[in-house]
Amino acid sequence: AKSAGRDMARFFSPETDQRVLARQTMETQLRQALANDEFSLHYQPRLNARTRKVQGAEALLRWKNPLLGQVPPGEFIHVAEESGLIKPIGAWVLREACRNWMALEAQGVCKGLELSVNLSVAQLADPELVDQLIAVLRDTRMPPAQLELELTESHLMDNPVAAQQKVAALKALGVKVAIDDFGTGYSSLAYLKRFDIDKLKVDQSFVLGMLEDSADAAIVHAVIALGHTLGLKVVAEGVENLPTAQTLTALGCDELQGYCFSRPIPLDEWVSYLRS
Ligand code: C2E
Ligand code: CA
Ligand code: CA
Ligand code: CA
Repeated sequence: AKSAGRDMARFFSPETDQRVLARQTMETQLRQALANDEFSLHYQPRLNARTRKVQGAEALLRWKNPLLGQVPPGEFIHVAEESGLIKPIGAWVLREACRNWMALEAQGVCKGLELSVNLSVAQLADPELVDQLIAVLRDTRMPPAQLELELTESHLMDNPVAAQQKVAALKALGVKVAIDDFGTGYSSLAYLKRFDIDKLKVDQSFVLGMLEDSADAAIVHAVIALGHTLGLKVVAEGVENLPTAQTLTALGCDELQGYCFSRPIPLDEWVSYLRS
């Protein structure tokens, strides 16, 4: 028994053993999360940089599990992507966000405001995405022009030709498309020009320290200039304080999002935020 124990120890180093277990536990829990109604959406406002009026909000997924507690998206989204669970979860996010949005419209609190929803690479590659989106727009009566889909730069550049066709199919429905986390991947400028997108979202890693780090500031400046040259709107996320907001506005950034204005908040708080 002793030597068997030692063999086991050789097989499973305590470290990888724990990591594999944690990962399996998360996947098992994630598999039941939709059925158990453990997901919710928080909303973070996005403001017009010049007028500081609310322009829209980004829907951000939240997961509270009885065993694991509140799990941040940074920890479970990649598990959802690798296991394929992101397809049903992403479909739920899209429908729930549009449903929430139209419920607010009905109450008259968010007339004309834009809703941004994150799409994962598996959703983008899914041949059913376009039909799914058509069904959601029809069922919820969400006006397509008020819906913006956020696709990360690295996902688009994985397979730029296929992504370009998919973006064109989405745009044909009348929705807007933004490139998220811009500046962290390697966009070919030639491809960027060919994508029929509306907006660039400067990655928050450049925005967070831009007042202290001149290289970060230069990158933000360059992304704003590039976006405007291509006729795109530019959004900065991770705007944590007013001096950063002011600097971004002076640089011509179109929209601002970050803790400076609000953290992501649940739907009821978002209603009070809009009313105040
Ligand atoms: P993201 O799309 O880049 O979303 C922005 C993240 O930055 C959010 O983290 C938000 O809470 C955080 N943030 C906003 N303002 C500030 C700020 O001023 N300072 C700092 N330090 N952070 C700020 P969150 O909600 O934890 O989401 C993390 C990532 O998870 C998202 O990054 C996105 O990639 C992914 N994600 C979240 N919800 C969804 C979803 O419904 N579908 C998919 N596919 N991915 C999602
Ligand atoms: Ca996003
Ligand atoms: Ca981002
Ligand atoms: Ca991100």
